[in-house]
Amino acid sequence: MAGADLHTHSTASDGAHAPADVVRLAAAAGLDTIALTDHDTLSGVVAAARQGTVDGVRVIAGAEFSVAAPWGEMHLLGYFLPVADDRLAAFLAGQREARTERMREIVRRLARAGVPLSLEAVQDEAGGDALGRPHAARALVRGQYVAGMSAAFERYLGWGRPAFVPKQLPGLEAVTALVREVGGVTSAAHLKGRGTRPALERLRASGVDALEVRHPAHDPERTASLDRLATDLGLLRSGGTDWHGEEEADEAGRAHLGTITVPPEWVAALEALHRRRTERGSVT
Ligand code: AMP
Ligand code: FE
Ligand code: FE
Ligand code: ZN
Repeated sequence: MAGADLHTHSTASDGAHAPADVVRLAAAAGLDTIALTDHDTLSGVVAAARQGTVDGVRVIAGAEFSVAAPWGEMHLLGYFLPVADDRLAAFLAGQREARTERMREIVRRLARAGVPLSLEAVQDEAGGDALGRPHAARALVRGQYVAGMSAAFERYLGWGRPAFVPKQLPGLEAVTALVREVGGVTSAAHLKGRGTRPALERLRASGVDALEVRHPAHDPERTASLDRLATDLGLLRSGGTDWHGEEEADEAGRAHLGTITVPPEWVAALEALHRRRTERGSVT
């Protein structure tokens, strides 16, 4: 059965598989469309798209931004992003630099907690340019400080744990404005219980275009509620597995590729908005 998964990660950020392999595995899982949505980078998109022409998978250029929310950190998916826009590239480069600085601090705090992990050991786990906590988690597993990824987050890296370091987050409106300016479309990722009507009205007022309705963290009731609210509020819909690799799907109970898809109409609606934005002449 064909389908579209609009939330996937590769080694360009914290996924376990190279961009071309994500596409191969997507084809094998029966998908005809994916959005590659790595954290703070578009660097996997070109290789993924090239593989897509081989395997018959359409690859939508995406990224997952971290932005400030009233409750702390919120994730915002960007779709139909240009890979060669200078302003977007500069913004993403700044975010990645901040990730590297944050990782230095995570490593310092790990040392204080009695775990002598080096920044290099963390960087060795990263295949791309966007460093994240999963790389530290994998280095902790490799160094046999913990038994698995989940334990790494529970003991050291998760919120409130000894090596937790918050991100310096850009404002939501600054990011939605930037994405609009370059012709892209945004979707508020995995809102879970934060997806109440007043919260969604505020997101819409801040320039968010869509809601990630389908996600492994959304049970059927949550999915139905977000779907209804999106329709009521005139927001578009997206969804996907938030896949980071088959191993983690097994270990951390995350979704396997091909298990969460969205209908072609959802993709077409997101793309139509992208086309309207590029036709207006704000992007060449
Ligand atoms: P960061 O962007 O560096 O804060 O890392 C966040 C990423 O860590 C998420 O996108 C997930 O890929 C991963 N993550 C968060 N919590 C867990 C967990 N409990 N187990 C495994 N991976 C996690
Ligand atoms: Fe991630
Ligand atoms: Fe996320
Ligand atoms: Zn994600």
